[in-house]
Amino acid sequence: MSDNGTPRHETVVIIGSGPAAWTAAIYAARAEMSPLVIEGSFHRTMIPGGQLMFTTEVENYPGFKDGVDGQTLMLEMKEQALRFDTRTLTEDVVELDASDRPFRMRTTEGSEVLADAVIVATGANAKWLGLHNEERLAQSGGGVSACAVCDGALPHFRGQVVGVVGGGDTAMEDALYLTKFAKEVVVIHRRDELRASKIMADRALQNEKIRFEWNSVVTEVHGDEVITGVRLRNTITSEERDLDVGGLFVAIGHSPNTGFLNGVVALKSNGYVETPTPWRTQTSVPGIFAAGDVMDDYYRQAVTAAGTGCMAALDAERWLETAGTAVAPEVAEAV
Ligand code: NAP
Repeated sequence: MSDNGTPRHETVVIIGSGPAAWTAAIYAARAEMSPLVIEGSFHRTMIPGGQLMFTTEVENYPGFKDGVDGQTLMLEMKEQALRFDTRTLTEDVVELDASDRPFRMRTTEGSEVLADAVIVATGANAKWLGLHNEERLAQSGGGVSACAVCDGALPHFRGQVVGVVGGGDTAMEDALYLTKFAKEVVVIHRRDELRASKIMADRALQNEKIRFEWNSVVTEVHGDEVITGVRLRNTITSEERDLDVGGLFVAIGHSPNTGFLNGVVALKSNGYVETPTPWRTQTSVPGIFAAGDVMDDYYRQAVTAAGTGCMAALDAERWLETAGTAVAPEVAEAV
C-alpha cells in the first residue's frame, strides 16, 4: 500500500528472485522501468534467491572460471539489479488478478500492488523424497543433490559409486551423465518398469557402468558430513538392506511454483506456464510474461533462466511501448 492507503501502482512487477527474476530486473531497471521485485519470503524449504541458494558450487555459469557458490551468484545478481533503480518487497504473492488492467496482486502480508506488466519468475522446486538426512546433506553440500548437471562433475563424486533415484527421463539422463565421473551408477526405481522414453531407457540399460535396483525405495540416507550410503526397502518383499554410495541424485521430478496463478494464465499439462509463441515469453494473458524454471520444463539451468529473464524484460518493455497501457486487452492480444 502507498502512504495514502491506495495500492501502489508499478510499471513492471517481477515475481521471484532467482536468475530469471534478477536478470529481468537488471534489464527492466536499465530500461528505466523502475521494476519492483516481489522476491518471496523465507520458508523452511525455499528462501529468496531460489534453488541456487541451496547449491554449493556452480561451475557452469559463464564468467566464473573458478566456479562460484550459488548464494554468492544470487547475491551478486541482486546487487547488480539494485545498482539501478530496482526495488524489492520480501513477501509472497498469493493472488494475481488479471481480469482488468492494471493487474492486481495481493501478498501474504496483505500488501496490494498494481502493475501495468508482470513477469512471473517464481521457479520450480525439485521434488525430494522427504527424508531428514537427505534435505540436510543436500543443503550442506554433503553429496546429495537434485541436479546432476549442476553438481555431478564436482570432485566429490569422481570415482564414487553414486545412486540416482527415479525411473523417468531425468533419472536416465542423470545416470548417463554421471557415468562420465562416477565409478558406478546405481539407479534406484520403485517399480520394475521405467517411465523414461524407450530411447533413454535403452541407453541407460545398455550402459555397462549403470546397474538397476528395481522395486526399491530409499528409506534412509546415512552419513554425518557426507553421505556414506542409503537404506533400501524392496517394495514387493519389504526386505531392507544398506547400499554404500558416495553420492545420491534425486531425480523424481520438479514442481513449478504456480499455485498463486490459479487459472489466471494457461498452464501446460505438466503444470508449467505456457508461453504459446516459440522464443517469446508472453503468456496466454497479454502483459503477463514468464521466465525461468516456472516456464522451462526442459533446460532448467541458471544460465537459461537468466536468458529468459532478459527476454521477458525486453518483451515487457516492447509490449508496454506499443500496447500495454493504452489499449484494451483484446487489442493488445493481437500485438
Ligand atoms: P517424471 O517423468 O515425472 O518421472 C519421475 C520418476 O520419479 C518416475 O519414474 C517416478 O516413478 C519416480 N518418482 C516420483 N516420485 C517418487 C517418489 N516419491 N519416490 C520414488 N520415486 C518417485 O519426471 P522427469 O524424469 O523429471 O521428467 C519430466 C518431464 O521432462 C518428462 O516429460 C520427461 O520426458 C521430460 N524430460 C525429457 C528429457 C529428454 O528428452 N532428454 C530429459 C529430462 C526430462 P513412477 O515411474 O513409478 O511414477
